[in-house]
Formats: sequence, structure tokens, C-alpha cells
Amino acid sequence: MQATQPGGSQWPTLVDWFASHALGLAIFTPAAVACWTGEVFHLLHAGRRKRNGLLLLLVCIVTIGVFGQSRFHLLYCALPPIALLAFQADASAVLVGPLMCLAIAVWFTMHGSGPFWIEPYGSMQARIFALQLYLVAALAIALPISVAQAQRNRLIARLRDGERRYQVLAENATDIVMSVGLDGRIIYVSPRIIPVLGYAPEDLIGVRYSELVLPDDCDAIVTAFESLTAAKAEVSLDSRLRRPDGQARWIKTYLRLVVDPFSGKPEMLAVTVRDITERKTAEQRLADERTELQGLAFRDGLTGLFNRRHFDRELERVWRQHTHAESRNPVAAMMIDIDAFKSYNDHDGHQSGDECLRRVAQAIASAARRPTDIAARYGGEEFALILADTDQHGALIVAERIRAGIENLRIPHPACQTGIVTISVGVAAQRPGEDGDGSALVAAADKALYSAKQRGRNRACMVDTDVVSHIAG
Ligand code: GH3
Ligand code: MG
Ligand code: MG
Repeated sequence: MQATQPGGSQWPTLVDWFASHALGLAIFTPAAVACWTGEVFHLLHAGRRKRNGLLLLLVCIVTIGVFGQSRFHLLYCALPPIALLAFQADASAVLVGPLMCLAIAVWFTMHGSGPFWIEPYGSMQARIFALQLYLVAALAIALPISVAQAQRNRLIARLRDGERRYQVLAENATDIVMSVGLDGRIIYVSPRIIPVLGYAPEDLIGVRYSELVLPDDCDAIVTAFESLTAAKAEVSLDSRLRRPDGQARWIKTYLRLVVDPFSGKPEMLAVTVRDITERKTAEQRLADERTELQGLAFRDGLTGLFNRRHFDRELERVWRQHTHAESRNPVAAMMIDIDAFKSYNDHDGHQSGDECLRRVAQAIASAARRPTDIAARYGGEEFALILADTDQHGALIVAERIRAGIENLRIPHPACQTGIVTISVGVAAQRPGEDGDGSALVAAADKALYSAKQRGRNRACMVDTDVVSHIAG
């Protein structure tokens, strides 16, 4: 600090004093904060100790080189090591480095050496002041670099952390995670695909996702991709994927459109694939069992024809359908009874009787050819048929076909006059009206059957109100 001139103004001295202390404060405050917050101990951090030490050593050597001589203006040579320190070292080293530089520079300057002795400074205090300015300039370079570096390092660490966490999630999730481009080609696939589908992830990069799907399910996948890229944000669907060993697996695919947060444009598809083969197999088994059970509920256990319950329900349905139909086509019903079956049983035994029932049922089923024909075991050795859209004449032709078919089976029946098993058939047909439910039709067919029995059996008879006609066997 300059000595006060007697009688002169105190103002310049005060300004010098203030400036000198302000610079000192600017130099030491960051270092003091580093000590106060404990940041300085990072210098000793095992992982970075060597690098920090080497960089500080470089700063010291260059500073000694610059201030250990008084011939050249090498002041700016000390700045690059400080800048390098700012780029490469921890914040603590960046704060300590200029202080070391200051100590070395002050020591040499005080001992008459250094670039500040080349210029003719008025006093030592002026030299120290210039030195302080120089160091503040060095700090002004180093600190912003150091702060920017610290921010960048933090950002990189966060990114790495996020990436690592994502990788751990993707690799350990039960589902397969994929990134698929808008062209449908796979960009990334998680390793979970190895145990689930048997593919190596690297083999699938660039492959179209739809190529993995079975041809039958391919269209659905392509449509889902198109709907996603067109409008929808999320789609899920079940399809079958082919494994490399040719085996097919049921999978549920969740597709999600990923949009670029900056441009708002679709970027790619996030695809999650879940193996649902076990569930699908169980569902299929359940559906099969249900169908089988439903079938059993409608079927007669001995003959395989529909049972009485199903016959009644179908008669009601067909009757209702024909009542409401514009054409009002007639519905025909047929009642069939095996002739002298009691004596067949008595002679051949019940087991042969059952076998005979099965053969008769088969013959009836094969004679009722239309898909809408319903043949049922009505009870005991009686059978019944519903023939939709059939008049009396048509029904009588079918009845005769059935009768002849059973006769042609030539099942021996020694206890019967004919020597073979025969049947009697009663036929009735009606045009459904608003009232009635089809029971009158069955009653009429039963009446015609009675008539066939009365007339000597092995024949088909029909009833039309009071008129009963017959075809003799
Ligand atoms: P008809 O010519 O008058 O019909 O004489 P029928 O002896 O056949 O007389 P009916 O129709 O009354 O005979 C019914 C007999 O059918 C009684 C029983 O022995 C036999 N039957 C009924 N249900 C079964 C069955 O499930 N299995 C066997 N094996 N026989 C049955
Ligand atoms: Mg009977
Ligand atoms: Mg009978």
C-alpha cells in the first residue's frame, strides 16, 4: 500500500487499500468455502488423488518456471496449466491450484524475481497488486470452466445411471422389451428373448417384427403397426410367434408409439412381448371341455343322437322361427318306434338290445341328410325327428328312406314275424300359426305312429288332421 502524502488526499490510498483487499477476498473466498464445506478433502479421494496431484505439480512447476526468472514476460504461460486443471481436476484442486500459484509467485516476486520485475513498478506493493489482478484473472478463467465441467460430469453420471437402471430393468423383466423402428424393423431387443423365444438378440436387429409372427397372424400385426403410426398411441394383441426350432408360442404384444419430445413426431415403437402360451393352452383346454360338456348335455349317451331335452328345445325354436318367417314353410315331425322290441330284448338280452338301438340310431342319423334335420332319441326304443321347411310329402319320403334303411340292415329278430328288426314311423307336418308351440305336431306324429302300429307295423304313416295315409312296408 502506498504511503500517505503529507497534506495530500487520503482518497487514492483508500481506493488502493479497498481494491487490494477486494482482490484478496476474491482469491481466498472460493478456497475458504472449499475448506468450510469439506470439498477440499476430495483432493485426497483415493480414485483421483494421483491425477489431482500431478496437475497441481504441473501448475507449481510452470509457475516456478515463470516466476523463477526475470528476463521474459512469461506470465501467460502459467494460465494453460490452470485451465487444464479446471478441465481435468476436481473443484477442490481448481481452488487450491491458484493458491499454490499465488504462494510461489509472491515468494519469487518478494525475492526480486519474476515477470513483475521486468516492468518498472513504483513499489513492491504495486507489484503484489498486479500479481493479485493476475490471479483473479486466472481464477476467472478456471472457475467457470470448473463449474461447467462439474455440471457436465453430473449430467453424464445421471445419464449413465439412468442407462444402467434401464438396462437392469430390461434385462431382468419377465417380459421381452423391444424398440422397433417405424418401418417395423427391430432396433433393440432385451436378452429375455433367449429363454422365451430362443433367439439371440443380435440376430434380430434389422429383422421385421412381422417376420417372427406366424403367417396367419401376420395381417393383424401389420394392421396394429399401421394403426399406431396413423393415430392410436397404444395397441395390444395376441398372436403366435415362431421359435427357431419351429415351435409356435402364444404371445401378447403391447405396442406403444414413442414420440420425439422436441419435434412431436413419431420416433419409434416401444414393444413389450409377454409369453401367454400356458394361459392360452389352459383357455383352449377349458373351451374344449366346455364344448364337450355342452355336447354331452344335449346328447344321448347310448346312441349319440340328441336327447329328448334338446329335441323339445329345438322344436320350440324351429316352430318360433317358422312362425315369424314370411314364407311360413311347414315343419314336419316324425316319431319312430322299433317293432316288437320287447321280445328282441327278451330273446337276445339287453346288451344286444342296446347294440341294436345304436345301429338303428346310426341308420336314422344317416337318412336325415339336411343340416337342419334334428334326430333325437325320444326315450326307450323311440326316436323322433324334426324336419324344418318340409311338407308331409317330403317328410313321408324321408320316413320311408329311414324305414327301408333299417330293414336293409337285416338285423336278425327271430322272435318277430319278419325275422328282422323293423320300425314303424308316424309323420306329421304343419304350417306354424300364431298360437301353438309344436307340441300338437308331435302329438299328431304320435297318432300317425299309433296308426302305423295298428296297420301291421314296418310302415310309415302320416296324419293330416283327420286323414291318415300310409306307405306299406
Ligand atoms: P311295439 O311293436 O308295439 O312297439 O312292441 P314293443 O315290444 O316294441 O313295445 P314297446 O314299444 O312298448 O317296447 C318297449 C321296449 O323297449 C321295452 C324295453 O324292453 C325296450 N327298451 C326300452 N329302452 C331300452 C333300452 O335303453 N335298451 C334296451 N335294450 N331296451 C330298451
Ligand atoms: Mg315303444
Ligand atoms: Mg316298440
